[in-house]
Amino acid sequence: MQRIYLDNAATTPTSPEVLAAMLPYFTDLYGNPSSIHSFGQEAKEAVEKARDRLAALLGARSDEIIFTSGGTESDNTALMGIAYALKDKGNHIITTPVEHHAIVETARFMEKQGYRVTYLPVDRYGAVSPDDVRKAITPRTILVSVMHANNEMGTIQPVTEIARVAREAGVYCHTDAVQTVGHIPLSVKELGVDLLSLSAHKFNGPKGVGALYIRKGTRLLPFAHGGEQERNLRAGTHNVPGIVGLGKAAEIAQKSLPAEMARITALRDCLTRGILDGIKNTYINGHPQSRLPGNVNISIDFVEGESVLLNLDLEGICASTGSACSSASLEPSHVLLAMGIAPEKAHCSIRFSLGAQNTGADVDRVLEALPRIVTKLRAMSPLVKPG
Ligand SMILES: *Cc1c(COP(=O)(O)O)cnc(C)c1O
Repeated sequence: MQRIYLDNAATTPTSPEVLAAMLPYFTDLYGNPSSIHSFGQEAKEAVEKARDRLAALLGARSDEIIFTSGGTESDNTALMGIAYALKDKGNHIITTPVEHHAIVETARFMEKQGYRVTYLPVDRYGAVSPDDVRKAITPRTILVSVMHANNEMGTIQPVTEIARVAREAGVYCHTDAVQTVGHIPLSVKELGVDLLSLSAHKFNGPKGVGALYIRKGTRLLPFAHGGEQERNLRAGTHNVPGIVGLGKAAEIAQKSLPAEMARITALRDCLTRGILDGIKNTYINGHPQSRLPGNVNISIDFVEGESVLLNLDLEGICASTGSACSSASLEPSHVLLAMGIAPEKAHCSIRFSLGAQNTGADVDRVLEALPRIVTKLRAMSPLVKPG
């Protein structure tokens, strides 16, 4: 059975070109970029080339990028790094309840350290209002962190407007752009943010490597201590093959992004329309237009998302009920609950996330299998009223 992978928001396959670029750095070119001999210097050169490529994708300067172990570390570095650096100015952080766990759990940890955190309200699409950001800012506010696009329901946040509000108040603004880098055109200048997190494995790079954009002049303290790598902001020997892979993924994304975005958006719309038209009592979660090109998040009344998922998996179709973390915990998604979606509807949600490897044939297979599975599950469901 040919399996179909529709969980690209959880991770993506490393593209063959990316892997090919990485391989020599495991074998022949194994130097430590911090060494001054030729082995070290060729590794350093590769790291700097990757930095240039990533900077070009983001519209940033190369010296505004530090490499990390992924989105989680970048998010932790941004939140804790600003909080520690600015603790004389204030202790108030503003974020949202729909952030990835890497932000939400870090914010909770900061609360235990004596920081005060405001979780902004979101509308029914999960979007934050820039006006609410303005109202939440106090003289003690040191950071606003709002994700660029949500990994579960796909809504894109008005980050440009939010960053403008923060800047006018003299407050740093961070965005978790793990879901958007490599997927939608993005420039740190246009967004106007001071910090931006990204992760290679969400756009066909390798797992375990990411980066944090830090606008020149931003005050930040590292939370891990050791060597002087990455301008003293991220200690530890560079993951050279991973960084090379991230650079290659950035280069490929920059070339293919416009065409891929249009192609994947068309697949998304076809899948969404097919489900909404083909299965009664289904609803789209997240914003209908302002959403990630590859994200389809649907609630299907009277069935458990988990049951749909397992039945799809038996047919070789791999989707998700939300974020990988909430799927494992069987708790309704914190994101859908924050949007005011009732727990029973949140339990009925399923997420398909399309990526580079998906085609129209994949969409057709879902549209063939899903209605059949839902009909079968509803026939067995005590939730469906007879008649
Ligand atoms: C995947 C993801 C992360 C975590 O990135 P890792 O590289 O897996 O640590 C953070 N934020 C968002 C929005 C994500 O989708």
